[in-house]
Amino acid sequence: MPSHNLAKITIGELDIIGYSVAGEETVIAVPQLDVCFDVGKAPDQIIPINHVLLTHGHMDHAAGIAYYLSHRNFCGMAAGTILAPEVLLPPMRDIFDAWTRLDGNSLPVNLVGVKPGDEYQIKPNLFARVFPTKHSRGSVGFTVIEKRKKLKAELSGLTGPQIVELKKKGVEVDNPIEIPLVTYLGDTKFVDFSQLNYITESKILIAECTFYVDEHAERALAGRHMHIDEFVLLMSKLNNQHIVVTHTTLRTPMSQIRKILKDELPPDKFDKVILLMDKNQFKG
Ligand SMILES: [Zn+2]
Ligand SMILES: [Zn+2]
Repeated sequence: MPSHNLAKITIGELDIIGYSVAGEETVIAVPQLDVCFDVGKAPDQIIPINHVLLTHGHMDHAAGIAYYLSHRNFCGMAAGTILAPEVLLPPMRDIFDAWTRLDGNSLPVNLVGVKPGDEYQIKPNLFARVFPTKHSRGSVGFTVIEKRKKLKAELSGLTGPQIVELKKKGVEVDNPIEIPLVTYLGDTKFVDFSQLNYITESKILIAECTFYVDEHAERALAGRHMHIDEFVLLMSKLNNQHIVVTHTTLRTPMSQIRKILKDELPPDKFDKVILLMDKNQFKG
């Protein structure tokens, strides 16, 4: 019996499952990529996922770290890998130590401290790249990037055996290419993320937009979150094929959020938007 009722979106080959409400809980997983962005309260559905990519230490994003590890251990799974901003490692270790004493069972973990610019290998061809956000001390976001090799254009006329022959001679026949699949911004105030090409071109962008009405502009500023005006500006700079909006406030009804997004975004952008927590995904 799953502990949570999670939203589920399917985009091409990828499922995005999760829950994200500002101040309450945020956990967003892409099972096919074996990653879970933030861990919320560790819903059962994400326990088998081997990598948690933690953006910052706020309780609504990080409360489940110990339960995630403990439940994996209980189910006989290997230690989970948690990527987290390196400034958070000492308090996280304190928490794991305290839980080990409280629970009486060990808490196996592969804890990896990350900072902007780092890259971590998830699978042979899949990497998580870390970029800075502006939310809390050391906060980061992640892009999951597929790396492939593509035959050099000037060799495209050659036959298979000819290419093999060149390889045998030690000639480099491929160019490395990077395909940014999913970017998760986590919590952040406005940052011009278009300066990072892999974010601009990421196929799927999972972005927070917390506040929607003028009266909440102050709250956005104080909490270092995005307000609709900044979100619209950011979207004008990016080229993502799919935009998943998360971390919506409960202060504004979902139907109103949908309408405001439709009114504020150009139609071609709005067509790309999926509101994670909208049970009523029609765009009417
Ligand atoms: Zn949050
Ligand atoms: Zn936060």
